[in-house]
Amino acid sequence: MRAGSRPACASWAEYGPAFFLRKTISVSELHKFIFEGQPVRGSIVRLTDAWQEILRRRADNSETGAYPVAVRELLGEMAAAGVLMQSNIKFNGALVFQVMGDGPVKLAVAEVQSDLSLRATASLVGEVADGASLEPLLNVRGGGRCAITLDPKDRQPGQQPYQGVVPLQDAQGRRFQKMSDVLQHYMLQSEQLDTVLVLAADDQVAAGLMIQRMPVKGEANLAAATESESAQHDAIGLNEDYNRIATLAASLTRDELLTLDVETILRRLFWEEKLMRFVPQQDEESPRFACTCSRARVASMLTSLGAAEIEDIIAERGSIEVGCDFCGQQYVFDPIDAARLFTEADKLPPSSSAVQ
Ligand SMILES: [Zn+2]
Repeated sequence: MRAGSRPACASWAEYGPAFFLRKTISVSELHKFIFEGQPVRGSIVRLTDAWQEILRRRADNSETGAYPVAVRELLGEMAAAGVLMQSNIKFNGALVFQVMGDGPVKLAVAEVQSDLSLRATASLVGEVADGASLEPLLNVRGGGRCAITLDPKDRQPGQQPYQGVVPLQDAQGRRFQKMSDVLQHYMLQSEQLDTVLVLAADDQVAAGLMIQRMPVKGEANLAAATESESAQHDAIGLNEDYNRIATLAASLTRDELLTLDVETILRRLFWEEKLMRFVPQQDEESPRFACTCSRARVASMLTSLGAAEIEDIIAERGSIEVGCDFCGQQYVFDPIDAARLFTEADKLPPSSSAVQ
Protein backbone atom coordinates (compact mmCIF):
# COMPACT_ATOMS: atom_id res chain seq x y z
CA MET A 1 0.00 0.00 0.00
CA ARG A 2 2.73 2.42 0.95
CA ALA A 3 5.26 1.06 -1.43
CA GLY A 4 5.15 4.33 -3.31
CA SER A 5 6.17 6.26 -0.22
CA ARG A 6 9.75 5.07 -0.26
CA PRO A 7 12.15 7.99 -0.36
CA ALA A 8 13.39 8.56 -3.86
CA CYS A 9 16.47 10.53 -2.89
CA ALA A 10 19.79 8.80 -3.42
CA SER A 11 22.65 10.33 -1.51
CA TRP A 12 26.33 9.60 -2.07
CA ALA A 13 26.11 7.40 1.03
CA GLU A 14 23.80 5.08 -0.85
CA TYR A 15 25.69 4.76 -4.09
CA GLY A 16 29.30 5.75 -3.53
CA PRO A 17 30.37 3.53 -0.63
CA ALA A 18 28.05 0.66 -1.56
CA PHE A 19 29.66 0.40 -4.95
CA PHE A 20 33.12 0.82 -3.50
CA LEU A 21 32.68 -1.53 -0.54
CA ARG A 22 31.44 -4.28 -2.77
CA LYS A 23 34.90 -4.73 -4.18
CA THR A 24 36.88 -4.22 -0.99
CA ILE A 25 34.85 -5.80 1.82
CA SER A 26 33.86 -9.28 0.89
CA VAL A 27 32.77 -10.98 4.09
CA SER A 28 29.31 -12.50 3.89
CA GLU A 29 26.72 -11.04 6.27
CA LEU A 30 23.46 -12.02 7.89
CA HIS A 31 21.22 -9.42 9.53
CA LYS A 32 18.07 -10.20 11.49
CA PHE A 33 15.41 -7.84 12.75
CA ILE A 34 11.86 -7.67 14.04
CA PHE A 35 9.20 -5.03 13.72
CA GLU A 36 8.53 -3.57 17.13
CA GLY A 37 5.11 -4.50 18.49
CA GLN A 38 4.26 -6.59 15.44
CA PRO A 39 4.47 -10.33 14.92
CA VAL A 40 6.77 -9.92 11.95
CA ARG A 41 10.41 -10.82 11.62
CA GLY A 42 12.88 -10.31 8.84
CA SER A 43 16.37 -11.19 7.74
CA ILE A 44 18.76 -10.20 4.99
CA VAL A 45 21.69 -12.24 3.80
CA ARG A 46 24.49 -11.16 1.49
CA LEU A 47 26.82 -13.94 0.48
CA THR A 48 29.97 -12.54 -1.07
CA ASP A 49 33.19 -14.44 -0.30
CA ALA A 50 31.24 -17.67 0.35
CA TRP A 51 29.36 -17.36 -2.92
CA GLN A 52 32.43 -16.43 -4.95
CA GLU A 53 34.21 -19.51 -3.59
CA ILE A 54 31.34 -21.75 -4.71
CA LEU A 55 31.53 -20.27 -8.23
CA ARG A 56 35.33 -20.40 -8.35
CA ARG A 57 35.47 -24.11 -7.53
CA ARG A 58 33.07 -24.88 -10.33
CA ALA A 59 34.70 -22.54 -12.84
CA ASP A 60 38.15 -24.03 -12.14
CA ASN A 61 36.91 -27.57 -12.71
CA SER A 62 38.16 -28.55 -16.18
CA GLU A 63 35.47 -31.22 -16.57
CA THR A 64 32.43 -29.08 -15.78
CA GLY A 65 33.52 -25.48 -16.40
CA ALA A 66 31.61 -22.54 -14.94
CA TYR A 67 27.86 -22.60 -14.39
CA PRO A 68 25.71 -21.13 -17.15
CA VAL A 69 24.33 -17.74 -16.08
CA ALA A 70 20.81 -18.99 -15.39
CA VAL A 71 22.10 -21.86 -13.24
CA ARG A 72 24.38 -19.51 -11.36
CA GLU A 73 21.37 -17.34 -10.52
CA LEU A 74 19.30 -20.35 -9.47
CA LEU A 75 22.01 -21.77 -7.23
CA GLY A 76 22.85 -18.38 -5.71
CA GLU A 77 19.21 -17.80 -4.86
CA MET A 78 19.06 -21.26 -3.29
CA ALA A 79 22.21 -20.63 -1.24
CA ALA A 80 20.85 -17.30 0.04
CA ALA A 81 17.45 -18.82 0.82
CA GLY A 82 19.09 -21.78 2.56
CA VAL A 83 20.92 -19.43 4.93
CA LEU A 84 17.73 -17.45 5.62
CA MET A 85 15.79 -20.62 6.42
CA GLN A 86 18.53 -22.20 8.52
CA SER A 87 19.02 -19.01 10.54
CA ASN A 88 15.31 -18.92 11.41
CA ILE A 89 15.10 -22.33 13.04
CA LYS A 90 16.48 -23.72 16.24
CA PHE A 91 18.06 -26.87 14.98
CA ASN A 92 21.45 -28.51 15.22
CA GLY A 93 22.22 -30.07 11.88
CA ALA A 94 22.16 -29.54 8.14
CA LEU A 95 19.39 -27.85 6.20
CA VAL A 96 19.52 -29.38 2.73
CA PHE A 97 17.60 -27.46 0.09
CA GLN A 98 17.27 -29.43 -3.14
CA VAL A 99 15.47 -29.12 -6.42
CA MET A 100 15.18 -32.16 -8.65
CA GLY A 101 14.32 -31.29 -12.22
CA ASP A 102 13.16 -32.81 -15.51
CA GLY A 103 14.90 -30.16 -17.64
CA PRO A 104 18.58 -29.40 -18.25
CA VAL A 105 19.15 -29.01 -14.50
CA LYS A 106 18.89 -32.47 -13.01
CA LEU A 107 19.69 -31.49 -9.43
CA ALA A 108 20.65 -28.36 -7.53
CA VAL A 109 21.55 -28.49 -3.86
CA ALA A 110 22.41 -25.91 -1.23
CA GLU A 111 23.38 -27.25 2.18
CA VAL A 112 23.64 -24.96 5.21
CA GLN A 113 24.83 -26.12 8.63
CA SER A 114 23.66 -24.63 11.95
CA ASP A 115 26.84 -22.55 12.13
CA LEU A 116 25.92 -21.12 8.69
CA SER A 117 28.74 -22.83 6.86
CA LEU A 118 27.45 -23.75 3.44
CA ARG A 119 28.16 -25.40 0.14
CA ALA A 120 26.19 -25.75 -3.07
CA THR A 121 26.31 -27.58 -6.36
CA ALA A 122 24.23 -28.32 -9.44
CA SER A 123 24.36 -31.11 -12.00
CA LEU A 124 23.35 -30.43 -15.57
CA VAL A 125 22.25 -32.77 -18.32
CA GLY A 126 21.57 -30.33 -21.15
CA GLU A 127 22.05 -26.89 -22.62
CA VAL A 128 20.78 -23.97 -20.57
CA ALA A 129 19.58 -20.77 -22.24
CA ASP A 130 20.56 -17.43 -20.72
CA GLY A 131 17.74 -15.96 -18.70
CA ALA A 132 15.92 -19.29 -18.43
CA SER A 133 13.37 -19.23 -15.60
CA LEU A 134 12.49 -22.11 -13.29
CA GLU A 135 10.18 -23.89 -15.75
CA PRO A 136 12.64 -24.36 -18.64
CA LEU A 137 15.45 -25.11 -16.17
CA LEU A 138 13.76 -27.67 -13.96
CA ASN A 139 10.12 -28.20 -14.69
CA VAL A 140 9.75 -28.79 -18.42
CA ARG A 141 7.22 -31.59 -18.07
CA GLY A 142 5.89 -30.62 -14.65
CA GLY A 143 8.00 -33.21 -12.86
CA GLY A 144 10.23 -30.80 -10.91
CA ARG A 145 10.28 -31.05 -7.12
CA CYS A 146 11.63 -28.96 -4.28
CA ALA A 147 12.69 -30.70 -1.08
CA ILE A 148 13.81 -29.23 2.22
CA THR A 149 15.45 -31.67 4.60
CA LEU A 150 16.52 -31.10 8.17
CA ASP A 151 19.18 -33.64 8.99
CA PRO A 152 20.10 -33.56 12.70
CA LYS A 153 23.76 -33.71 13.61
CA ASP A 154 23.14 -36.28 16.33
CA ARG A 155 20.74 -38.41 14.31
CA GLN A 156 20.04 -41.76 15.97
CA PRO A 157 20.27 -44.98 13.94
CA GLY A 158 16.95 -45.50 12.18
CA GLN A 159 15.79 -41.95 12.81
CA GLN A 160 14.50 -40.32 9.63
CA PRO A 161 15.42 -36.70 8.89
CA TYR A 162 12.47 -34.30 8.58
CA GLN A 163 11.67 -33.64 4.94
CA GLY A 164 9.09 -31.49 3.16
CA VAL A 165 8.57 -31.89 -0.58
CA VAL A 166 6.52 -29.70 -2.90
CA PRO A 167 6.06 -29.63 -6.68
CA LEU A 168 7.21 -26.58 -8.64
CA GLN A 169 3.63 -25.51 -9.32
CA ASP A 170 0.67 -24.35 -7.27
CA ALA A 171 -2.51 -26.26 -6.49
CA GLN A 172 -4.04 -25.08 -9.77
CA GLY A 173 -1.09 -26.46 -11.73
CA ARG A 174 0.43 -23.07 -12.57
CA ARG A 175 4.18 -23.57 -12.80
CA PHE A 176 6.34 -21.27 -10.74
CA GLN A 177 8.92 -19.23 -12.65
CA LYS A 178 10.90 -18.01 -9.64
CA MET A 179 12.51 -19.85 -6.73
CA SER A 180 11.11 -17.26 -4.32
CA ASP A 181 7.58 -18.19 -5.41
CA VAL A 182 8.26 -21.87 -4.76
CA LEU A 183 9.53 -21.14 -1.24
CA GLN A 184 6.71 -18.74 -0.37
CA HIS A 185 4.29 -21.47 -1.42
CA TYR A 186 6.26 -24.07 0.53
CA MET A 187 6.28 -21.97 3.71
CA LEU A 188 2.55 -21.45 3.53
CA GLN A 189 1.69 -25.07 2.68
CA SER A 190 4.16 -26.90 4.88
CA GLU A 191 4.78 -24.50 7.74
CA GLN A 192 1.67 -22.29 7.70
CA LEU A 193 3.93 -19.25 7.59
CA ASP A 194 3.15 -16.16 5.53
CA THR A 195 6.44 -15.29 3.87
CA VAL A 196 7.83 -12.76 1.42
CA LEU A 197 11.12 -13.64 -0.21
CA VAL A 198 13.21 -11.58 -2.59
CA LEU A 199 16.23 -13.45 -3.95
CA ALA A 200 18.93 -12.57 -6.45
CA ALA A 201 22.43 -13.64 -7.47
CA ASP A 202 25.13 -12.59 -9.90
CA ASP A 203 28.80 -13.51 -10.14
CA GLN A 204 29.74 -11.51 -7.02
CA VAL A 205 26.78 -11.65 -4.65
CA ALA A 206 24.00 -14.05 -3.71
CA ALA A 207 21.47 -12.22 -1.58
CA GLY A 208 18.04 -12.57 -0.07
CA LEU A 209 15.46 -10.71 1.99
CA MET A 210 12.89 -12.68 3.94
CA ILE A 211 9.92 -11.29 5.85
CA GLN A 212 7.80 -13.70 7.81
CA ARG A 213 4.73 -13.44 9.96
CA MET A 214 5.54 -15.18 13.20
CA PRO A 215 3.14 -17.67 14.66
CA VAL A 216 1.32 -16.02 17.53
CA LYS A 217 2.10 -18.84 19.91
CA GLY A 218 5.34 -20.74 20.22
CA GLU A 219 8.50 -20.73 18.23
CA ALA A 220 8.33 -20.73 14.48
CA ASN A 221 10.08 -23.82 13.32
CA LEU A 222 10.20 -25.62 10.03
CA ALA A 223 9.68 -28.85 11.88
CA ALA A 224 7.07 -27.69 14.35
CA ALA A 225 4.20 -25.76 12.83
CA THR A 226 1.04 -26.64 14.72
CA GLU A 227 -2.67 -26.51 13.99
CA SER A 228 -3.27 -23.84 16.62
CA GLU A 229 -0.91 -21.53 14.79
CA SER A 230 -2.79 -21.81 11.55
CA ALA A 231 -6.09 -21.38 13.38
CA GLN A 232 -4.95 -17.91 14.44
CA HIS A 233 -3.77 -17.16 10.97
CA ASP A 234 -6.48 -14.76 10.00
CA ALA A 235 -6.79 -12.83 13.23
CA ILE A 236 -7.83 -9.28 12.33
CA GLY A 237 -5.15 -6.66 12.96
CA LEU A 238 -2.23 -8.98 12.45
CA ASN A 239 -2.79 -9.16 8.73
CA GLU A 240 -2.88 -5.40 8.25
CA ASP A 241 0.58 -4.81 9.68
CA TYR A 242 1.98 -7.82 7.94
CA ASN A 243 0.48 -6.89 4.60
CA ARG A 244 1.94 -3.40 4.75
CA ILE A 245 5.41 -4.70 5.60
CA ALA A 246 5.11 -7.49 3.03
CA THR A 247 4.23 -4.99 0.30
CA LEU A 248 7.25 -2.87 1.17
CA ALA A 249 9.53 -5.92 1.20
CA ALA A 250 8.22 -7.18 -2.15
CA SER A 251 9.02 -3.81 -3.74
CA LEU A 252 12.76 -4.48 -3.35
CA THR A 253 14.24 -4.95 -6.82
CA ARG A 254 16.86 -7.47 -7.86
CA ASP A 255 19.25 -4.66 -8.65
CA GLU A 256 18.81 -3.00 -5.26
CA LEU A 257 19.28 -6.29 -3.46
CA LEU A 258 22.50 -7.05 -5.33
CA THR A 259 24.13 -3.62 -5.27
CA LEU A 260 23.05 -1.84 -2.07
CA ASP A 261 24.44 -2.50 1.38
CA VAL A 262 22.11 -3.83 4.05
CA GLU A 263 21.77 -0.52 5.93
CA THR A 264 20.63 1.24 2.79
CA ILE A 265 18.14 -1.47 1.87
CA LEU A 266 16.54 -1.46 5.31
CA ARG A 267 16.38 2.33 5.39
CA ARG A 268 14.83 2.55 1.94
CA LEU A 269 12.22 -0.11 2.56
CA PHE A 270 11.28 0.37 6.19
CA TRP A 271 12.11 3.96 7.06
CA GLU A 272 8.61 4.44 8.47
CA GLU A 273 8.63 1.23 10.50
CA LYS A 274 10.10 0.63 13.93
CA LEU A 275 12.82 -1.93 13.36
CA MET A 276 14.62 -3.70 16.16
CA ARG A 277 17.93 -4.98 14.88
CA PHE A 278 19.85 -7.93 16.23
CA VAL A 279 23.61 -7.83 16.26
CA PRO A 280 24.54 -8.91 12.74
CA GLN A 281 26.28 -12.22 12.25
CA GLN A 282 29.62 -11.14 10.94
CA ASP A 283 33.23 -12.24 11.17
CA GLU A 284 33.49 -15.73 12.69
CA GLU A 285 29.71 -16.11 12.88
CA SER A 286 29.01 -14.96 9.35
CA PRO A 287 27.86 -17.37 6.66
CA ARG A 288 30.88 -18.95 5.02
CA PHE A 289 31.84 -21.61 2.56
CA ALA A 290 32.87 -25.01 3.87
CA CYS A 291 33.18 -28.44 2.30
CA THR A 292 34.49 -31.62 3.84
CA CYS A 293 36.61 -32.46 0.80
CA SER A 294 40.38 -31.97 0.78
CA ARG A 295 43.37 -32.96 -1.30
CA ALA A 296 44.51 -35.26 1.51
CA ARG A 297 41.17 -37.10 1.48
CA VAL A 298 41.29 -37.55 -2.28
CA ALA A 299 44.92 -38.74 -2.02
CA SER A 300 43.88 -41.29 0.57
CA MET A 301 41.05 -42.51 -1.66
CA LEU A 302 43.40 -42.82 -4.65
CA THR A 303 45.99 -44.66 -2.56
CA SER A 304 43.33 -47.16 -1.58
CA LEU A 305 42.83 -48.03 -5.28
CA GLY A 306 46.38 -49.40 -5.38
CA ALA A 307 49.48 -48.49 -7.38
CA ALA A 308 48.63 -50.68 -10.39
CA GLU A 309 45.21 -49.06 -10.90
CA ILE A 310 46.64 -45.56 -10.55
CA GLU A 311 49.44 -46.34 -13.02
CA ASP A 312 46.83 -47.55 -15.51
CA ILE A 313 44.84 -44.33 -15.24
CA ILE A 314 47.98 -42.20 -15.60
CA ALA A 315 49.06 -44.23 -18.65
CA GLU A 316 45.64 -43.78 -20.23
CA ARG A 317 44.86 -40.16 -19.36
CA GLY A 318 48.13 -38.51 -18.39
CA SER A 319 46.76 -37.29 -15.09
CA ILE A 320 44.01 -38.02 -12.61
CA GLU A 321 41.22 -35.53 -12.00
CA VAL A 322 38.80 -36.09 -9.15
CA GLY A 323 35.87 -33.70 -8.65
CA CYS A 324 34.03 -33.26 -5.35
CA ASP A 325 30.33 -34.04 -5.76
CA PHE A 326 29.33 -31.50 -3.13
CA CYS A 327 31.22 -28.37 -4.16
CA GLY A 328 32.74 -29.00 -7.60
CA GLN A 329 36.33 -28.61 -6.46
CA GLN A 330 38.64 -30.53 -8.77
CA TYR A 331 41.77 -32.21 -7.48
CA VAL A 332 44.38 -32.95 -10.15
CA PHE A 333 47.19 -35.45 -9.70
CA ASP A 334 49.87 -35.42 -12.40
CA PRO A 335 52.26 -38.41 -12.84
CA ILE A 336 54.64 -37.07 -10.18
CA ASP A 337 51.82 -36.45 -7.70
CA ALA A 338 50.51 -39.92 -8.44
CA ALA A 339 53.89 -41.59 -7.88
CA ARG A 340 54.30 -39.68 -4.65
CA LEU A 341 51.00 -41.12 -3.37
CA PHE A 342 52.69 -44.46 -2.94
CA THR A 343 56.20 -43.45 -1.95
CA GLU A 344 54.70 -41.31 0.82
CA ALA A 345 52.14 -43.92 1.73
CA ASP A 346 54.97 -46.44 2.14
CA LYS A 347 56.38 -44.37 4.94
CA LEU A 348 53.11 -44.44 6.84
CA PRO A 349 51.89 -47.37 8.90
CA PRO A 350 50.32 -49.85 6.46
CA SER A 351 46.55 -49.56 6.04
CA SER A 352 44.42 -52.45 4.92
CA SER A 353 43.33 -50.68 1.76
CA ALA A 354 46.74 -49.38 0.67
CA VAL A 355 48.34 -52.82 0.31
CA GLN A 356 45.77 -54.38 -2.00
ZN1 LIG B 1 33.97 -30.39 -1.76
